[in-house]
Amino acid sequence: MKKFKTAIILFIVFEAIAVSLWLSTGQLFFLLNFTYIGACIAVGEVLMVKKWKYAREFVQFTVGSYMLVFLGLICRENMQIEGFWYYLLSGFFGAGVLHYAIAKIFGPLLFGRGWCGYACWTAMILDLLPYKQPQGSRKKIGFIRYIVFALSLALVLLLFHFGKATKHTMFLLFVIGNLVYYAVGITFAVAFKDNRAFCKYICPITVFLKPMSYYSWLRIQCDEDKCIHCGKCLRVCPMEVEVNNNSRKRKNATECILCQKCKKECPVKALK
Ligand code: SF4
Ligand code: SF4
Ligand code: SF4
Repeated sequence: MKKFKTAIILFIVFEAIAVSLWLSTGQLFFLLNFTYIGACIAVGEVLMVKKWKYAREFVQFTVGSYMLVFLGLICRENMQIEGFWYYLLSGFFGAGVLHYAIAKIFGPLLFGRGWCGYACWTAMILDLLPYKQPQGSRKKIGFIRYIVFALSLALVLLLFHFGKATKHTMFLLFVIGNLVYYAVGITFAVAFKDNRAFCKYICPITVFLKPMSYYSWLRIQCDEDKCIHCGKCLRVCPMEVEVNNNSRKRKNATECILCQKCKKECPVKALK
């Protein structure tokens, strides 16, 4: 049981959120939603302990596809950034705002970019592409994310201005937005030979994720006494994090998605 302590704790944390939200709002949805997500994450952690190669992908697909297909397409919740602006500007602090608060704004103080490694339905598809390790130097075009961020807000403000900000419009935006994200994400991945190019340069959510994850409690750390500076961890990292340096200011420090690839690769188990 000791080996599965983390899985049990994770499930209990999600279950506590599930029960608290259910009791405080009276909505059974919150109980089922967070129980399901907590169970997927806990099972994924058990699979990781068992060293199953695709444990992270298991969580990414079970959580990511649930959000995209069930919450997005069936329940018609816009969980993209436009949906967040829409709910915020409507003064309705429902599932969409809660999702952003937990996964993308305040949660990263605790678990960093865990969302990006284990739940995002955009990355779930992009990670299937062949460029798992970036081939080529990093581009200086990260400013695009701020433009996309501002455009997403401007679009929703315009919809409110013209009286078109309805649930139906937001659903259409969700469908179109996801198709655009996949098309742009795949194009950038192929062009830069880097599956995560979209995450590095374009995704507007990183405007929230990056500053918050700088302070993340959960982070990969290096035992510098053990490290033999072989550089294997740096070569496999999909986000090009300088993981063998413990400083919070290490290169690409706010981009670690906690995928654990570096840990698996380290020959002297210096990363934990
Ligand atoms: S950076 Fe954006 S697209 Fe990439 S995994 Fe994170 S939320 Fe998803
Ligand atoms: S390989 Fe290591 S440093 Fe790079 S994103 Fe994954 S966990 Fe973070
Ligand atoms: S793989 Fe391990 S030993 Fe090699 S540089 Fe990274 S932390 Fe150091």
